[in-house]
Amino acid sequence: MATAASTSSADSDTECSVCHELFKNPKLLPCAHVLCRHCLLSWLASNPEALCPLCRGAIADPKEKSKTKGWEEVVDDLPDDVAMTALVESTRVLSQDHVCGGCKTAAVSICLNCNDMMCKSCGCQHTNFSATRHHKVEDLSSMTAEELAASQPDHCSVHTSKPCELFCPTHGAAICHLCASAKHRACPDLTELAEAADKSSEELSQMVTSLLTEEQQLEEAVAALERHLEATEKVVQEAVAEIDRTCDQLENSVKECRRRLKEMTLDAKAKVKDTVLAVKVTLFDHRGRLTSHRRVADRTTRGATNKVMCDVTRALGTRVRDILVTCGQLSVDWKSVSTVTLTIDAAAVARIEKELSALGQVKVKPVSIVTRQQLDWRFHTNHGENIVLSNDGLTAQRVGNGNNGIVVADQPMVPEVLYEVQLDKVDKHFIVQLPCGVVLTDPDHLCLPDTAYGGWGSEAIVISHAVYNRGHKIYSD
Ligand SMILES: [Zn+2]
Ligand SMILES: [Zn+2]
Ligand SMILES: [Zn+2]
Ligand SMILES: [Zn+2]
Ligand SMILES: [Zn+2]
Ligand SMILES: [Zn+2]
Repeated sequence: MATAASTSSADSDTECSVCHELFKNPKLLPCAHVLCRHCLLSWLASNPEALCPLCRGAIADPKEKSKTKGWEEVVDDLPDDVAMTALVESTRVLSQDHVCGGCKTAAVSICLNCNDMMCKSCGCQHTNFSATRHHKVEDLSSMTAEELAASQPDHCSVHTSKPCELFCPTHGAAICHLCASAKHRACPDLTELAEAADKSSEELSQMVTSLLTEEQQLEEAVAALERHLEATEKVVQEAVAEIDRTCDQLENSVKECRRRLKEMTLDAKAKVKDTVLAVKVTLFDHRGRLTSHRRVADRTTRGATNKVMCDVTRALGTRVRDILVTCGQLSVDWKSVSTVTLTIDAAAVARIEKELSALGQVKVKPVSIVTRQQLDWRFHTNHGENIVLSNDGLTAQRVGNGNNGIVVADQPMVPEVLYEVQLDKVDKHFIVQLPCGVVLTDPDHLCLPDTAYGGWGSEAIVISHAVYNRGHKIYSD
Protein backbone atom coordinates (compact mmCIF):
# COMPACT_ATOMS: atom_id res chain seq x y z
CA MET A 1 0.00 0.00 0.00
CA ALA A 2 1.47 3.31 -1.04
CA THR A 3 0.89 6.12 1.42
CA ALA A 4 0.69 9.63 0.14
CA ALA A 5 1.06 10.96 3.67
CA SER A 6 4.66 9.85 3.88
CA THR A 7 5.66 12.13 0.98
CA SER A 8 5.26 15.34 2.89
CA SER A 9 7.14 17.42 0.34
CA ALA A 10 4.58 18.84 -2.03
CA ASP A 11 4.45 16.74 -5.19
CA SER A 12 5.03 19.80 -7.33
CA ASP A 13 8.33 20.43 -5.53
CA THR A 14 9.80 17.12 -6.66
CA GLU A 15 7.99 16.96 -10.02
CA CYS A 16 9.38 18.30 -13.26
CA SER A 17 6.96 20.77 -14.82
CA VAL A 18 7.76 19.48 -18.33
CA CYS A 19 7.27 15.70 -17.89
CA HIS A 20 5.22 15.89 -14.63
CA GLU A 21 7.21 13.02 -13.15
CA LEU A 22 9.74 12.92 -10.33
CA PHE A 23 12.90 14.71 -11.46
CA LYS A 24 15.54 12.63 -13.27
CA ASN A 25 19.01 14.25 -13.29
CA PRO A 26 17.62 17.61 -12.15
CA LYS A 27 19.51 20.60 -13.54
CA LEU A 28 19.54 23.99 -11.86
CA LEU A 29 18.82 26.77 -14.41
CA PRO A 30 20.28 30.27 -14.00
CA CYS A 31 16.83 31.43 -12.83
CA ALA A 32 16.91 28.66 -10.14
CA HIS A 33 14.05 26.73 -11.72
CA VAL A 34 14.72 23.00 -11.99
CA LEU A 35 14.13 20.68 -14.96
CA CYS A 36 15.15 17.08 -15.75
CA ARG A 37 18.26 16.98 -17.93
CA HIS A 38 16.46 15.18 -20.77
CA CYS A 39 13.41 17.48 -20.50
CA LEU A 40 15.68 20.51 -20.69
CA LEU A 41 17.42 19.08 -23.78
CA SER A 42 14.14 18.41 -25.60
CA TRP A 43 12.83 21.87 -24.57
CA LEU A 44 15.96 23.53 -25.98
CA ALA A 45 15.74 21.47 -29.20
CA SER A 46 12.27 22.89 -29.93
CA ASN A 47 12.85 26.33 -28.33
CA PRO A 48 16.23 27.53 -29.57
CA GLU A 49 15.77 31.00 -28.03
CA ALA A 50 16.74 29.15 -24.82
CA LEU A 51 14.31 30.74 -22.34
CA CYS A 52 13.07 29.01 -19.18
CA PRO A 53 9.61 27.49 -19.80
CA LEU A 54 8.49 28.69 -16.35
CA CYS A 55 9.71 32.29 -16.18
CA ARG A 56 11.17 33.10 -19.63
CA GLY A 57 14.53 33.77 -17.97
CA ALA A 58 17.60 33.10 -20.13
CA ILE A 59 18.91 29.53 -19.83
CA ALA A 60 21.92 30.14 -22.03
CA ASP A 61 23.11 32.50 -24.71
CA PRO A 62 21.74 31.00 -27.97
CA LYS A 63 24.96 32.16 -29.69
CA GLU A 64 27.01 30.07 -27.30
CA LYS A 65 25.45 26.92 -28.65
CA SER A 66 25.94 27.80 -32.30
CA LYS A 67 29.49 28.99 -31.76
CA THR A 68 31.25 26.21 -29.97
CA LYS A 69 28.93 23.96 -28.08
CA GLY A 70 25.92 21.77 -28.66
CA TRP A 71 22.98 21.99 -26.25
CA GLU A 72 24.25 18.88 -24.42
CA GLU A 73 27.42 20.65 -23.48
CA VAL A 74 25.51 23.77 -22.43
CA VAL A 75 23.15 21.70 -20.27
CA ASP A 76 25.99 19.68 -18.72
CA ASP A 77 27.66 22.94 -17.73
CA LEU A 78 24.61 23.78 -15.59
CA PRO A 79 24.94 22.58 -11.97
CA ASP A 80 23.15 19.39 -10.89
CA ASP A 81 20.52 20.02 -8.23
CA VAL A 82 21.99 17.41 -5.86
CA ALA A 83 19.65 18.34 -3.00
CA MET A 84 16.69 17.70 -5.32
CA THR A 85 18.17 14.36 -6.42
CA ALA A 86 18.32 13.26 -2.77
CA LEU A 87 14.81 14.54 -2.07
CA VAL A 88 13.43 12.73 -5.13
CA GLU A 89 15.14 9.51 -3.99
CA SER A 90 13.60 9.81 -0.49
CA THR A 91 10.20 10.58 -1.99
CA ARG A 92 10.51 7.49 -4.17
CA VAL A 93 11.50 5.30 -1.18
CA LEU A 94 8.61 6.60 0.96
CA SER A 95 6.05 6.19 -1.81
CA GLN A 96 6.78 2.46 -2.15
CA ASP A 97 4.47 -0.06 -0.50
CA HIS A 98 5.17 -0.11 3.23
CA VAL A 99 6.06 -3.81 3.38
CA CYS A 100 8.75 -5.36 5.59
CA GLY A 101 11.63 -6.50 3.38
CA GLY A 102 12.25 -9.50 5.70
CA CYS A 103 8.87 -11.09 6.44
CA LYS A 104 6.59 -9.28 3.90
CA THR A 105 4.14 -8.07 6.60
CA ALA A 106 3.21 -4.40 7.05
CA ALA A 107 6.27 -2.24 7.75
CA VAL A 108 6.27 0.30 10.62
CA SER A 109 9.83 1.58 10.54
CA ILE A 110 12.62 2.42 8.13
CA CYS A 111 16.40 2.14 8.43
CA LEU A 112 17.92 5.50 7.56
CA ASN A 113 21.20 3.80 6.61
CA CYS A 114 19.92 1.17 4.19
CA ASN A 115 16.45 2.61 3.42
CA ASP A 116 14.90 -0.81 4.18
CA MET A 117 11.35 -0.87 5.54
CA MET A 118 10.75 -3.24 8.42
CA CYS A 119 8.07 -4.63 10.71
CA LYS A 120 8.51 -4.14 14.43
CA SER A 121 10.32 -7.42 15.11
CA CYS A 122 12.61 -7.23 12.04
CA GLY A 123 13.41 -3.66 13.09
CA CYS A 124 14.51 -4.91 16.52
CA GLN A 125 16.64 -7.63 14.97
CA HIS A 126 18.22 -5.05 12.58
CA THR A 127 19.47 -2.95 15.50
CA ASN A 128 20.72 -6.09 17.30
CA PHE A 129 22.86 -7.49 14.46
CA SER A 130 26.46 -6.54 14.98
CA ALA A 131 26.80 -5.44 11.30
CA THR A 132 23.84 -3.07 11.48
CA ARG A 133 23.90 -2.22 15.18
CA HIS A 134 24.88 1.44 14.49
CA HIS A 135 22.01 1.88 11.93
CA LYS A 136 19.28 4.35 12.79
CA VAL A 137 15.79 2.86 12.56
CA GLU A 138 12.95 5.41 12.66
CA ASP A 139 9.16 5.35 12.81
CA LEU A 140 7.86 5.20 9.23
CA SER A 141 4.51 6.93 9.83
CA SER A 142 6.03 10.31 10.81
CA MET A 143 8.97 10.22 8.41
CA THR A 144 9.02 12.97 5.77
CA ALA A 145 10.98 12.93 2.51
CA GLU A 146 13.06 15.91 3.73
CA GLU A 147 13.93 14.12 7.00
CA LEU A 148 14.85 10.94 5.15
CA ALA A 149 16.95 12.87 2.62
CA ALA A 150 18.72 14.76 5.41
CA SER A 151 19.53 11.60 7.35
CA GLN A 152 21.08 9.66 4.47
CA PRO A 153 24.73 8.78 5.09
CA ASP A 154 27.18 10.71 2.89
CA HIS A 155 29.29 8.41 0.73
CA CYS A 156 32.49 9.29 -1.06
CA SER A 157 31.79 9.89 -4.75
CA VAL A 158 35.04 8.05 -5.66
CA HIS A 159 34.93 5.23 -3.07
CA THR A 160 31.17 4.78 -2.99
CA SER A 161 31.21 2.32 -0.08
CA LYS A 162 33.25 4.63 2.15
CA PRO A 163 31.63 7.31 4.31
CA CYS A 164 32.49 10.93 3.52
CA GLU A 165 33.93 12.43 6.67
CA LEU A 166 36.34 15.13 5.56
CA PHE A 167 36.23 18.32 3.54
CA CYS A 168 39.00 19.68 1.33
CA PRO A 169 38.66 23.49 1.03
CA THR A 170 41.25 23.55 -1.80
CA HIS A 171 39.13 21.31 -4.03
CA GLY A 172 35.81 22.30 -2.41
CA ALA A 173 35.01 18.58 -2.13
CA ALA A 174 33.70 16.23 0.54
CA ILE A 175 36.04 13.23 0.66
CA CYS A 176 36.70 9.97 2.50
CA HIS A 177 39.84 9.06 4.46
CA LEU A 178 41.16 7.05 1.47
CA CYS A 179 40.90 10.12 -0.73
CA ALA A 180 42.55 12.21 1.99
CA SER A 181 45.63 9.99 2.05
CA ALA A 182 45.79 9.69 -1.75
CA LYS A 183 44.65 12.53 -4.01
CA HIS A 184 44.38 15.17 -1.24
CA ARG A 185 47.59 14.29 0.64
CA ALA A 186 49.17 17.65 -0.14
CA CYS A 187 45.98 19.66 0.41
CA PRO A 188 46.18 21.95 3.47
CA ASP A 189 43.41 22.63 6.00
CA LEU A 190 41.36 19.43 5.58
CA THR A 191 38.51 19.74 8.07
CA GLU A 192 35.80 17.49 9.46
CA LEU A 193 32.85 17.39 7.06
CA ALA A 194 30.47 18.16 9.95
CA GLU A 195 32.42 21.33 10.72
CA ALA A 196 32.34 22.41 7.05
CA ALA A 197 28.63 21.57 6.94
CA ASP A 198 28.00 23.80 9.98
CA LYS A 199 29.66 26.68 8.15
CA SER A 200 27.69 25.91 4.98
CA SER A 201 24.46 25.74 6.93
CA GLU A 202 25.22 29.13 8.46
CA GLU A 203 26.04 30.54 5.01
CA LEU A 204 22.82 29.09 3.61
CA SER A 205 20.73 30.67 6.39
CA GLN A 206 22.46 33.99 5.76
CA MET A 207 21.67 33.57 2.05
CA VAL A 208 18.03 32.90 2.92
CA THR A 209 17.92 35.98 5.16
CA SER A 210 19.58 38.23 2.60
CA LEU A 211 17.44 36.95 -0.27
CA LEU A 212 14.30 37.29 1.86
CA THR A 213 15.22 40.85 2.80
CA GLU A 214 15.86 41.79 -0.82
CA GLU A 215 12.66 39.99 -1.81
CA GLN A 216 10.70 42.01 0.78
CA GLN A 217 12.36 45.22 -0.36
CA LEU A 218 11.44 44.54 -3.98
CA GLU A 219 7.91 43.62 -2.93
CA GLU A 220 7.71 46.87 -0.99
CA ALA A 221 9.01 48.73 -4.03
CA VAL A 222 6.37 47.03 -6.22
CA ALA A 223 3.69 47.84 -3.64
CA ALA A 224 4.94 51.45 -3.54
CA LEU A 225 4.68 51.60 -7.34
CA GLU A 226 1.15 50.23 -7.17
CA ARG A 227 0.27 52.81 -4.52
CA HIS A 228 1.84 55.41 -6.79
CA LEU A 229 -0.40 54.26 -9.66
CA GLU A 230 -3.46 54.42 -7.41
CA ALA A 231 -2.48 57.89 -6.24
CA THR A 232 -1.94 58.91 -9.88
CA GLU A 233 -5.43 57.63 -10.69
CA LYS A 234 -6.82 59.87 -7.92
CA VAL A 235 -4.79 62.87 -9.04
CA VAL A 236 -5.96 62.37 -12.63
CA GLN A 237 -9.60 62.12 -11.54
CA GLU A 238 -9.24 65.36 -9.61
CA ALA A 239 -7.42 66.98 -12.54
CA VAL A 240 -10.16 65.93 -14.97
CA ALA A 241 -12.78 67.38 -12.62
CA GLU A 242 -10.76 70.60 -12.35
CA ILE A 243 -10.45 70.75 -16.16
CA ASP A 244 -14.23 70.34 -16.44
CA ARG A 245 -14.80 73.04 -13.83
CA THR A 246 -12.39 75.49 -15.48
CA CYS A 247 -13.64 74.83 -19.01
CA ASP A 248 -17.28 75.06 -17.88
CA GLN A 249 -16.45 78.41 -16.34
CA LEU A 250 -14.74 79.58 -19.55
CA GLU A 251 -17.59 78.21 -21.67
CA ASN A 252 -20.08 80.13 -19.51
CA SER A 253 -17.99 83.28 -19.92
CA VAL A 254 -17.99 82.82 -23.72
CA LYS A 255 -21.75 82.17 -23.69
CA GLU A 256 -22.30 85.28 -21.56
CA CYS A 257 -20.06 87.29 -23.89
CA ARG A 258 -22.08 86.05 -26.92
CA ARG A 259 -25.35 86.97 -25.20
CA ARG A 260 -24.12 90.41 -24.16
CA LEU A 261 -22.73 91.31 -27.63
CA LYS A 262 -25.96 90.23 -29.31
CA GLU A 263 -28.02 92.16 -26.77
CA MET A 264 -25.90 95.30 -27.25
CA THR A 265 -26.20 94.98 -31.03
CA LEU A 266 -30.00 94.56 -30.87
CA ASP A 267 -30.23 97.54 -28.46
CA ALA A 268 -28.25 99.63 -30.92
CA LYS A 269 -30.59 98.58 -33.73
CA ALA A 270 -33.59 99.67 -31.63
CA LYS A 271 -32.00 103.07 -31.04
CA VAL A 272 -31.39 103.55 -34.79
CA LYS A 273 -34.96 102.54 -35.46
CA ASP A 274 -36.27 105.13 -32.95
CA THR A 275 -34.30 108.05 -34.39
CA VAL A 276 -35.12 107.08 -38.00
CA LEU A 277 -38.81 106.87 -37.10
CA ALA A 278 -38.78 110.36 -35.50
CA VAL A 279 -37.21 111.93 -38.62
CA LYS A 280 -39.63 109.99 -40.81
CA VAL A 281 -42.62 111.39 -38.88
CA THR A 282 -41.50 115.00 -39.53
CA LEU A 283 -41.04 114.28 -43.24
CA PHE A 284 -44.50 112.62 -43.41
CA ASP A 285 -46.01 115.70 -41.73
CA HIS A 286 -44.64 118.06 -44.32
CA ARG A 287 -45.50 115.75 -47.17
CA GLY A 288 -49.15 115.64 -45.90
CA ARG A 289 -49.40 119.40 -46.01
CA LEU A 290 -47.89 119.55 -49.53
CA THR A 291 -50.32 116.87 -50.77
CA SER A 292 -53.46 118.53 -49.35
CA HIS A 293 -52.52 121.97 -50.79
CA ARG A 294 -51.76 120.34 -54.17
CA ARG A 295 -55.20 118.67 -54.13
CA VAL A 296 -56.98 122.01 -53.39
CA ALA A 297 -55.08 123.76 -56.21
CA ASP A 298 -55.75 120.86 -58.60
CA ARG A 299 -59.48 120.73 -57.78
CA THR A 300 -59.81 124.50 -58.27
CA THR A 301 -58.04 124.39 -61.68
CA ARG A 302 -60.44 121.73 -62.95
CA GLY A 303 -63.86 123.04 -61.69
CA ALA A 304 -64.07 126.72 -60.64
CA THR A 305 -65.23 130.02 -62.07
CA ASN A 306 -62.73 132.67 -62.96
CA LYS A 307 -63.58 134.62 -59.86
CA VAL A 308 -63.22 131.60 -57.57
CA MET A 309 -59.89 130.69 -59.18
CA CYS A 310 -58.63 134.23 -58.48
CA ASP A 311 -59.85 134.05 -54.84
CA VAL A 312 -58.30 130.63 -54.20
CA THR A 313 -55.01 131.62 -55.78
CA ARG A 314 -54.85 134.65 -53.50
CA ALA A 315 -55.80 132.52 -50.43
CA LEU A 316 -53.23 129.80 -51.13
CA GLY A 317 -50.42 131.88 -52.59
CA THR A 318 -48.64 133.00 -49.40
CA ARG A 319 -49.20 129.69 -47.57
CA VAL A 320 -47.85 127.55 -50.40
CA ARG A 321 -44.81 129.78 -50.80
CA ASP A 322 -44.07 129.46 -47.06
CA ILE A 323 -44.58 125.68 -47.14
CA LEU A 324 -42.30 125.31 -50.17
CA VAL A 325 -39.64 127.43 -48.50
CA THR A 326 -39.79 125.29 -45.34
CA CYS A 327 -39.77 122.00 -47.30
CA GLY A 328 -36.91 123.18 -49.50
CA GLN A 329 -34.86 123.60 -46.35
CA LEU A 330 -35.69 120.07 -45.14
CA SER A 331 -33.04 117.36 -45.77
CA VAL A 332 -31.92 114.36 -43.78
CA ASP A 333 -28.81 115.03 -41.82
CA TRP A 334 -27.17 111.65 -42.33
CA LYS A 335 -24.45 112.56 -39.92
CA SER A 336 -26.91 112.65 -37.08
CA VAL A 337 -28.76 109.43 -38.02
CA SER A 338 -27.55 106.62 -35.73
CA THR A 339 -25.91 103.59 -37.33
CA VAL A 340 -24.74 100.25 -35.88
CA THR A 341 -21.10 99.26 -36.00
CA LEU A 342 -19.66 96.15 -34.36
CA THR A 343 -16.07 96.13 -33.26
CA ILE A 344 -14.63 92.82 -32.06
CA ASP A 345 -10.99 93.22 -31.20
CA ALA A 346 -9.32 90.50 -33.30
CA ALA A 347 -6.09 90.95 -31.37
CA ALA A 348 -7.92 90.39 -28.10
CA VAL A 349 -9.53 87.22 -29.48
CA ALA A 350 -6.12 85.95 -30.62
CA ARG A 351 -4.71 86.76 -27.20
CA ILE A 352 -7.49 84.85 -25.44
CA GLU A 353 -7.01 81.89 -27.78
CA LYS A 354 -3.29 81.92 -27.10
CA GLU A 355 -3.82 82.08 -23.37
CA LEU A 356 -6.38 79.28 -23.56
CA SER A 357 -3.94 77.03 -25.37
CA ALA A 358 -1.30 77.75 -22.75
CA LEU A 359 -3.74 77.25 -19.89
CA GLY A 360 -2.23 74.74 -17.43
CA GLN A 361 0.47 72.16 -18.07
CA VAL A 362 0.56 68.40 -17.55
CA LYS A 363 3.97 66.93 -16.80
CA VAL A 364 5.06 63.30 -16.50
CA LYS A 365 8.15 62.51 -14.53
CA PRO A 366 9.60 59.15 -15.63
CA VAL A 367 10.01 56.36 -13.08
CA SER A 368 13.46 54.82 -13.22
CA ILE A 369 15.57 52.44 -11.22
CA VAL A 370 18.63 53.96 -9.66
CA THR A 371 21.18 51.54 -8.32
CA ARG A 372 23.61 52.40 -5.58
CA GLN A 373 26.42 52.04 -8.11
CA GLN A 374 24.75 54.54 -10.45
CA LEU A 375 24.47 57.08 -7.67
CA ASP A 376 28.19 56.56 -7.08
CA TRP A 377 28.09 58.04 -3.62
CA ARG A 378 31.10 58.44 -1.47
CA PHE A 379 31.67 59.84 1.97
CA HIS A 380 32.64 63.51 1.95
CA THR A 381 36.27 64.23 2.70
CA ASN A 382 35.07 66.56 5.44
CA HIS A 383 34.36 64.20 8.32
CA GLY A 384 34.75 63.93 12.09
CA GLU A 385 38.18 63.32 13.58
CA ASN A 386 37.21 59.86 14.86
CA ILE A 387 36.55 58.60 11.34
CA VAL A 388 38.87 56.89 8.86
CA LEU A 389 37.79 56.64 5.23
CA SER A 390 38.99 53.81 2.99
CA ASN A 391 38.03 52.12 -0.26
CA ASP A 392 38.21 55.44 -2.13
CA GLY A 393 35.68 57.03 0.22
CA LEU A 394 33.19 54.19 -0.11
CA THR A 395 33.86 52.86 3.38
CA ALA A 396 33.96 54.78 6.64
CA GLN A 397 35.11 53.35 9.92
CA ARG A 398 34.76 54.84 13.35
CA VAL A 399 38.06 54.55 15.15
CA GLY A 400 37.60 56.39 18.40
CA ASN A 401 35.17 57.37 21.10
CA GLY A 402 33.58 60.74 21.60
CA ASN A 403 31.04 62.72 19.70
CA ASN A 404 33.09 63.43 16.63
CA GLY A 405 32.32 60.35 14.54
CA ILE A 406 30.34 62.18 11.92
CA VAL A 407 30.28 61.36 8.21
CA VAL A 408 28.30 62.99 5.43
CA ALA A 409 27.65 62.07 1.82
CA ASP A 410 29.56 63.92 -0.89
CA GLN A 411 26.42 64.65 -2.87
CA PRO A 412 23.08 66.27 -2.15
CA MET A 413 20.12 63.92 -1.99
CA VAL A 414 18.11 63.39 -5.17
CA PRO A 415 14.41 64.22 -4.76
CA GLU A 416 11.87 61.38 -5.02
CA VAL A 417 14.49 58.74 -4.17
CA LEU A 418 14.25 56.53 -1.10
CA TYR A 419 17.57 56.18 0.69
CA GLU A 420 18.88 53.37 2.83
CA VAL A 421 21.62 53.81 5.38
CA GLN A 422 23.70 50.68 5.53
CA LEU A 423 25.82 49.71 8.50
CA ASP A 424 28.01 46.78 7.61
CA LYS A 425 29.22 46.22 11.13
CA VAL A 426 28.14 47.57 14.48
CA ASP A 427 30.53 47.73 17.38
CA LYS A 428 28.38 48.68 20.38
CA HIS A 429 31.53 49.89 22.14
CA PHE A 430 31.48 53.08 20.05
CA ILE A 431 27.77 53.66 19.91
CA VAL A 432 26.02 55.96 22.30
CA GLN A 433 23.45 56.88 19.71
CA LEU A 434 23.29 56.93 15.95
CA PRO A 435 21.12 59.77 14.69
CA CYS A 436 20.42 59.74 10.97
CA GLY A 437 19.15 62.90 9.40
CA VAL A 438 19.32 65.64 6.87
CA VAL A 439 21.12 68.96 7.28
CA LEU A 440 20.95 72.02 5.11
CA THR A 441 24.57 73.03 5.65
CA ASP A 442 26.87 72.45 2.69
CA PRO A 443 29.27 69.63 3.69
CA ASP A 444 32.18 71.81 2.56
CA HIS A 445 31.24 74.29 5.30
CA LEU A 446 30.37 71.81 8.05
CA CYS A 447 32.55 72.43 11.05
CA LEU A 448 32.54 69.09 12.80
CA PRO A 449 31.20 68.24 15.26
CA ASP A 450 29.96 71.75 16.16
CA THR A 451 27.97 72.65 13.08
CA ALA A 452 26.36 69.26 12.84
CA TYR A 453 25.30 69.10 16.48
CA GLY A 454 24.77 72.83 16.87
CA GLY A 455 22.48 72.72 13.87
CA TRP A 456 20.36 69.78 14.91
CA GLY A 457 17.72 72.04 16.37
CA SER A 458 17.49 74.64 13.67
CA GLU A 459 18.45 73.24 10.30
CA ALA A 460 18.47 69.48 10.63
CA ILE A 461 15.82 66.80 10.51
CA VAL A 462 16.75 63.84 12.69
CA ILE A 463 15.11 60.68 11.40
CA SER A 464 16.10 58.03 13.90
CA HIS A 465 17.98 57.49 17.09
CA ALA A 466 18.08 53.74 16.56
CA VAL A 467 20.42 51.44 14.71
CA TYR A 468 18.84 49.20 12.13
CA ASN A 469 20.51 46.23 10.54
CA ARG A 470 18.80 45.44 7.24
CA GLY A 471 15.44 46.47 8.56
CA HIS A 472 15.80 44.99 12.04
CA LYS A 473 16.21 47.30 14.99
CA ILE A 474 19.33 46.18 16.79
CA TYR A 475 19.97 49.15 19.00
CA SER A 476 17.91 51.98 20.37
CA ASP A 477 18.97 54.60 22.88
ZN1 LIG B 1 11.15 16.14 -16.58
ZN1 LIG C 1 12.84 29.95 -14.68
ZN1 LIG D 1 9.52 -8.26 9.29
ZN1 LIG E 1 20.10 -0.61 8.09
ZN1 LIG F 1 37.07 8.56 -1.38
ZN1 LIG G 1 42.04 18.43 -1.94
